[in-house]
Amino acid sequence: MPEPGRIPVPLRLCRGCRRFVRIEHADCDFCGGDLAALEAAHAESAAAVRAATAELRTAMGRLLGLP
Ligand SMILES: [Zn+2]
Repeated sequence: MPEPGRIPVPLRLCRGCRRFVRIEHADCDFCGGDLAALEAAHAESAAAVRAATAELRTAMGRLLGLP
């Protein structure tokens, strides 16, 4: 909870250790990971999960005889 009258520091999530670090940092303060590289890797695996989910949905629809 930010104190009244204080602007909260903008943070970004480290995909390596799931902690928040200051947005202007290129590397994580906690795990030392490259935040941009970790974010890119996360986006790639999230896209793979979305594609697999869509495939599974299509396959299940076919099994159940749905359009
Ligand atoms: Zn980290």
